[in-house]
Amino acid sequence: MDTITVLTERNDDFAEHRFPSGLTLMPALKTLIIGCVDPRVDPAHVLGVALGDAAIIRNVGGRVTPATVAELVMLRKVTQAGGGDMGTGWDLVVLHHTQCGITRLGGEPAMLSAYFGVGEQELPAKRIDDPRAAVAVDVEALRSSPSLAGGFLVSGLVYDVATGRTEVVVPPALLRETAGVG
Ligand SMILES: [Zn+2]
Repeated sequence: MDTITVLTERNDDFAEHRFPSGLTLMPALKTLIIGCVDPRVDPAHVLGVALGDAAIIRNVGGRVTPATVAELVMLRKVTQAGGGDMGTGWDLVVLHHTQCGITRLGGEPAMLSAYFGVGEQELPAKRIDDPRAAVAVDVEALRSSPSLAGGFLVSGLVYDVATGRTEVVVPPALLRETAGVG
């Protein structure tokens, strides 16, 4: 059976048996998660995030890049256009993991430099070699992004693909004391 047939059959089963009607665009947990595209680390599974619970941005490494920040700014506009606001009272979670594929890109400095929007001499500070260090780097990158709302509780987690356990490396703390200019 080809993949699309497998997936559409699974969707039939979902629509028939598990589809929760009445979900809203605003995430029920008022939570945004930035995570990696790795198929082993889907927050729906490893964090039990149910449909409608959280907005999730996934990229290579679950990294805070200029594109990630631009998406967060865009998402805030979406919530504001719907009469709400994304920021105060919301959680912003950076989820990294062990054995991440980004560690294999050490020989691609030009690619990584473009990805992170920094010069190649600044790449070591991005710590692609160590998820615990990298998640702290990315929480700091969020803190130093003036375009983000200050009211988020921001945290950094590392998921261990060998055990299934998640460690809170950066405990939740207010992104900034004062609201940003969004
Ligand atoms: Zn990864």
